[in-house]
Amino acid sequence: MDYVEVLKDLISIDTTVPPGSNYDKAIDYLEPLFKESGFDAQKIVIPAQYAEGREGRVNLVCHRREKDKPRLILYGHIDVVPAEGWDAFKPRVENGKVYGRGAADMKGSIVAFLEATQSLKGKPLNFDVSVMITTDEESSQATQIEYLKQHLEPVFGAYFLNLDSSFGFVSIASLGALHVDIKVRGKSVHSGLSHLGENAIEKATPLIQALLDLKHKAEQRKSAVPTHPDTKLSQMQGRLNINMIKGGIKVNIVPDECLISVDRRLIPEENIEDARRELLDTLASVPGVTWQLERVHRIPTVPPADDPVVDRLAAVIGDITGQANKFGEMGSGDLSHIVAGWGCKAFGLGVIRPECNIHGREEFVYLKDIEHVTKIIARFLSTQG
Ligand SMILES: [Zn+2]
Repeated sequence: MDYVEVLKDLISIDTTVPPGSNYDKAIDYLEPLFKESGFDAQKIVIPAQYAEGREGRVNLVCHRREKDKPRLILYGHIDVVPAEGWDAFKPRVENGKVYGRGAADMKGSIVAFLEATQSLKGKPLNFDVSVMITTDEESSQATQIEYLKQHLEPVFGAYFLNLDSSFGFVSIASLGALHVDIKVRGKSVHSGLSHLGENAIEKATPLIQALLDLKHKAEQRKSAVPTHPDTKLSQMQGRLNINMIKGGIKVNIVPDECLISVDRRLIPEENIEDARRELLDTLASVPGVTWQLERVHRIPTVPPADDPVVDRLAAVIGDITGQANKFGEMGSGDLSHIVAGWGCKAFGLGVIRPECNIHGREEFVYLKDIEHVTKIIARFLSTQG
């Protein structure tokens, strides 16, 4: 297998979501490669009711079962975010990098995994392995993941290695997230008669001030889990950001609505319900403002992965790259909390670096990183790797 050609082929299949129209092409391309690596590969069509009504979401579940070994499930996704203004689906190799949408997030990781397992064909594995190649990660895939569970059993107690992750260390934790839209109510009148109305934007300002006080508190919360030096932090930290504000329709009309969107991120030691209560109490402490919650989205926190198998992966990374680290990510995703609900121990390793510009223009992956991850996976999966 020429892994650079495989990566270029995969990037050339435009799996942008929305709409996700070429998923079947990408899965059809991958299926024989997994079979060549000694996997039983099974295409799974996700029923529309598990894919938010979208038809024809094809996923791939592959197994190399060794039932007396510890269970390991690996995760990848083939969809990519939209790209505009550059040749995102005409991959090019330049200075040891492959450019193209999805190169680092995360087709490069899938290729590293395939390359690793091709080298392990016929050799005993350390684990009872299944792989899930999924769709719609970049839009919303929680229900699809739940549907796939039946094809991945047994999942309870399994190790869960997320290949959609950073390069060079084991990712052992991520932030919880609480997204809240707060609608502040006022009363609309002509600007000249504003004494008869209630200005929703002006009423929102003391709420915003209270949220900024809570932001300060949240940022003081430091986790015991260290983060990668690239984050310029030493440990994971709580966050609160007011990231959107909408209100008003015209300069001469007193606005009757103002919508504030808050993104609160939680360290693993925090609890999502406590954070929700704290946010509501903060808002309720402001007198004389009428508000309601329009939308609440929660990603609960998950305790950091702490297990000898995780330490062994870190040690393998150390042997191959010279650094054996475990860090928490200053990001959040549904996946780790879903699989924590299944009883899995989730951790991550991939080919993403900050400079890879995933989701941006000229996304790229280092060929060297793919080669390193290939070796790391091979050695982690088999003593003969
Ligand atoms: Zn991704």
